[in-house]
Amino acid sequence: MGANDVLARLNSSGFLKTQGFIGGKWVDAYDGKTLEVTNPATGEVIANVACMGTKEANDAIASAHKAFQSWSKFTAGERSKCLRKWYDLIMANKEQLGELITLEQGKPLKEAIGEVTLGASYLEFYAEEAKRIYGDIIPTTSADRRLFILKQPVGVVGAITPWNFPFAMITRKVGPALAAGCTMVIKPSELTPLAALAAAELANRAGIPPGVVNVVMGIAPEIGDALLASPQVRKITFTGSTAVGKKLMAGAASTVKKVTLELGGNAPCIVFDDADIEVAVKGTLGAKFRNTGQTCICANRILVQEGIYDKFARALSDAISNIKVGNGFSEGVVQGPLINEAAVQKVETLVQDAVSKGAEVLLGGKRHGLGFTFYEPTVISNVNNEMRISREEVFGPVAPLLRFKTEEEAISIANDTDAGLAAYLFGASVQRTWRVAEALEYGIVGINEGLVSSEVTPHGGVKQSGLGREGSKYGIEDYLEIKYVCLGNMLG
Ligand code: ADP
Repeated sequence: MGANDVLARLNSSGFLKTQGFIGGKWVDAYDGKTLEVTNPATGEVIANVACMGTKEANDAIASAHKAFQSWSKFTAGERSKCLRKWYDLIMANKEQLGELITLEQGKPLKEAIGEVTLGASYLEFYAEEAKRIYGDIIPTTSADRRLFILKQPVGVVGAITPWNFPFAMITRKVGPALAAGCTMVIKPSELTPLAALAAAELANRAGIPPGVVNVVMGIAPEIGDALLASPQVRKITFTGSTAVGKKLMAGAASTVKKVTLELGGNAPCIVFDDADIEVAVKGTLGAKFRNTGQTCICANRILVQEGIYDKFARALSDAISNIKVGNGFSEGVVQGPLINEAAVQKVETLVQDAVSKGAEVLLGGKRHGLGFTFYEPTVISNVNNEMRISREEVFGPVAPLLRFKTEEEAISIANDTDAGLAAYLFGASVQRTWRVAEALEYGIVGINEGLVSSEVTPHGGVKQSGLGREGSKYGIEDYLEIKYVCLGNMLG
């Protein structure tokens, strides 16, 4: 089925939305402006969506603030039912949502449907957690007092999300927020707003009250600034680049908002001499090539111990040479295009820089014959930790191999970065893998496993990779305030 047929079908089932969603209504930009959303696999325009700015963002904030007054007073059970219904509708339409993701983001359809399932799981999980937001009773310090802790929603939340997971990065935020009793203004990436808008359509169909979920997109700095400036917005949750995250954190200071930031990573993937080579290759492939290498937890530096280096480099190159590249709608494709031309240029620059400093291309190393933004699955050897490719996120299908001798050296290279999101290690010794896991300055560690994300586990980083955690029982805490209530005069 071609992209046009898919678009026509999505349109007729009401999933192809192009307006913003404010206070339960679909609205155009107030000045009528639109922006183009393109298919990265073909360069074709898929849709023209509303290009919104300050005014629309302020109206969305006002709607969310109004809705907060009632949504926060729903019982946990009522909020839970709404979230569960939303989850059910998403799962019933997961193929169509997946098609939308493949169209705007490029990932292979199977992977896109996987993103929908993962994204929906956050709604299901937090539908359940909504009922488990417990307070506390503190043993009193005097006979005439009782001391209580209430957990209450923080208020209106501004969520700013990236293009690499156009759906799951939203549900991972909106699930715990709604479960806690917060309302939301979501600003998806302008490159991939369609999945977010379809999610809002399904929220509406699920009976989530008007104003609880709002979506605006267009001029990112204007919308961002409106969210930051508003005293009604009590929290910003952001997934994206470290540079924008720092700006948002600074901007949140003027109204002292809570912030949750999931920023860039620079994941090391350490392969020790005693690793099971099949497990290490499979795990590295998963950690590196998922989403064409465009995730913040993607392995960015593959550190291989000298005794296994050549064998691992060969086995990894063999496995990578089997990766089928193409349009995400084509059968058997496991690697789609990069998101845009700028992304390809960044990959090219980092590979060229490494090669000019002595790295060797073992596989790929150039644009794919398919053109557009397709890049060949690539392995480069003899990389060191000073090269740009080791200091920056390559965000593409390039596996750079670095050689190390000792465990201490591996830990030192792995930690020699400002980032601290995910790390991976492969080895047979339980004592060593555990020791290294403890020594790594990262928020997430995968041991003999390359795919670590799920709704039941906390996702987040240390150092400049961010603040706070998403997913799991911990993820809801970021949307709750602790209120201490002292009840006095109990003997009077
Ligand atoms: P990436 O490199 O993944 O595109 P960005 O940090 O640029 O990361 O984008 C992530 C999200 O942040 C997107 O929704 C983008 O529109 C938004 N964004 C970019 N600049 C700003 C800004 N100044 N204020 C608010 N949001 C912004």
